[in-house]
Parts: sequence; C-alpha cells; structure tokens
Amino acid sequence: MENISPAEKYKFKRKIEELKDIKGQHTELISLYIPPKKQISDVMAQLRDEYSQSSNIKSKQTRKNVLSAIESIMSQLRYFKTPPPNGVVFFVGEGAKSGKQPKMMSQVIEPPMPISIYLYRCDSQFYLEPLEEMLEEKDSYGLLLIDRRECTIGFLFGKKIEMAAYLTSRVPGKHGRGGQSQRRFERLTEIAAHEWFVKAGKKASELFLEKDNLKGVLVGGPGPTKRMFLNQNYLDYRIADKILGIYDTGYTDEYGLKELVNNAANDLEELDIIKEKRIMNRFMEEVRSDSGLAVYGEEEVKRALEIGAVDMLILSDAIRKYKLKISCPSCGYSGETVSESDEDIKCPECKSPAVIEEKKDILEEYSDMAEQSSTKVEIISKDTEEGNILIKAFGGIAGILRYKID
Ligand code: ZN
Repeated sequence: MENISPAEKYKFKRKIEELKDIKGQHTELISLYIPPKKQISDVMAQLRDEYSQSSNIKSKQTRKNVLSAIESIMSQLRYFKTPPPNGVVFFVGEGAKSGKQPKMMSQVIEPPMPISIYLYRCDSQFYLEPLEEMLEEKDSYGLLLIDRRECTIGFLFGKKIEMAAYLTSRVPGKHGRGGQSQRRFERLTEIAAHEWFVKAGKKASELFLEKDNLKGVLVGGPGPTKRMFLNQNYLDYRIADKILGIYDTGYTDEYGLKELVNNAANDLEELDIIKEKRIMNRFMEEVRSDSGLAVYGEEEVKRALEIGAVDMLILSDAIRKYKLKISCPSCGYSGETVSESDEDIKCPECKSPAVIEEKKDILEEYSDMAEQSSTKVEIISKDTEEGNILIKAFGGIAGILRYKID
C-alpha cells in the first residue's frame, strides 16, 4: 500500500466494507482470486468444472443462484486476455445487506497490490481476508542502533523487523595506561571512534536512502553515544531529517532492534493521528481567522473544486453517502441525487421506486474532482476530537483554498 494515495486507499477500504456486509442465504456467494500470472484459460476450465459440480446442488434455488453466478463470472472473464497487473478478484452471488431483499451482486476488484493466491470459494459470505491484509499498514521505518562497539541497521515493515547490517568497531575500551601515553592513547581512541562513526553513518545512510518510502528513522542504543553521533552529523542530512525519535535500548545487536521498536511503538501509532490533527488545526485556524480560505459543505467545496481553487481537500472517512444516477420506470424521470443509502431510492417526481443507473461513493466523487486540479486529498479519521468536528460541524467535506474566491 505504499504507493497509493489516501483517496485510493479509502475507496478500496469502503469496497471491502460493503462486501463484508453482504450475506448469502445459503452457500451461494462466489469469491474468485486470480493472480497476475494465471492463465485465463485455466480459470475458465476450472469454472466449467465448478459449474458441472454445482449442477448437483440439491436446493433448487441455491443451485440456480450458484450457476448464474458462475455464468456471470465466465461471461465477464471473456473480456480478459490476461489478468490485470495486480490480478483481479470477482465477488458474485445472490446476497443481501442485513434486513434487505437479496439480489444478484457482482463486484470486480483490481487490487492496489498484487494478489499472490489463486482461489475459488463458494460460501455464505465473500472471502475478503487477502484484501483486508493489504489494507494493514505496510509503512517502513529505518532502525539504527549505535554505540562505540556495535552498530545494527534494520527496517520495520508493518510489524516485521528485518536486520540489514551489523558492524563492529575496533575502538579500544576507555581505559588505557597511565602517564604520558594515556593522552596519546586517548587521542588515538578518539580518532578510531571518529572513523567508526563515519563508517557506521555512511552505511546506515546508504541503506536508508535506497528505500523510497521510508517514513522515518528510529535511533537507539545505550548511553549518550547515540546523541553525540546524531549531533555531530554522521548521518546524511536527508536521513537526519527523517529521525522520529531517539530511544534508550540495552542492546545494540539484533535483539536491540526489537527493543527499539517496542520502545517507539506508542510514538509510531501517534504519528498518523498527529498528522491528521495538524491538518485539522490548520483548517480551523483559517475558519477562525476568517481569511476566506476555508470552505466546507458539499456545495461550496464542489464549486471551489470545479474552478481549481482548492489547495487541500479534507474529507472525513466517516461519510457514508452516494451520488446516484437514477431513472424512473413509471414516469420516465432521470437525474442525479445524493443519498445516504443505495437501497429503496424513490423517484423525486412520482415517489415510485427508482432504478439506480450509476452509483459512486461521495468521497470518490470528490477525490476524483480533486485529481483534475492536482489538489492534495487528505482523509481524516473520526477517531480524534478534530476528526469528530470535521464530520459533525462541517459535514465531513472541507478544504483550504489556494486563493480567495467570492
Ligand atoms: Zn417517477
């Protein structure tokens, strides 16, 4: 998930949430995961096989549903010569959100990261675990442990710690002989220490700079050496800028990496929250100072986006709204509407049930508009006080403008 935007990640998350809500009355919801390298012809062959086996299902209704789900997947697969770059997942079947009438559902998802499994499953709910795993944070951090004897360099990927390098120094211990040679010994020791820190700093900088998406660097070690090391700029300035925290650890070896991550855990969790708070505080400041640069509400933000005036679009992940294109079979009405649900939509003219022609999550709608004018999009969770204000007081849609508009 390293290379996708917050908006894309949000869209993907919402799709999974929606699918999770759907239950089949029987074993009739099909999930089909096709990894990038899979031959479509092999998949077709298996589907034909599943089709003939499913013809033996005893319940007539279930049999009919399963067969038509397989048919639907097969007819959609005909449009694929090969799977897309990250593979593709089909979710098809007769299912319902809780309390709603069951209907035929069909979702085709091209995930933001490559799928590694090939899987066909027919169950009373969709199988979503592989996609949910993709959503788990995969942020990477650099880890550096240093004292005068050892240096260990590693990475934290999501929750996984990996060691990248382990170096040891030839810096002699502090205690030399007494007298005249003591001073000489100390000088040599300091030269050796300087060389050691140069070497360690160079190695760490190299390894960290190779990683494109390093979110930050954590530094640890026992005693004051690590701070001295940082203060004297042994690290490349681009890496030094990424240091998130300095922590005491008892060890400077591989075990120390675990210690470092444990000690930093709370801070790492807070990072995202801090970023969100910072964005909201900036927005609130614009509101308070009456600078004319704050906008909020569906209409106002939309208007500002259309003329390309929005610098930063701020959306709450708590919004649950759709933009629907509807038509009415009774009176012929067709038009657009925004609704909190995508079920039981009534025609605004004659109040009879309308047909949904197109459905778009409102956040998707707004982030697509933002893309047109290279506006930054930030998605804010409702877990903080600030995030709560965004949804409660500003309807979950806000922005900071590039310039004042009327
Ligand atoms: Zn109507």
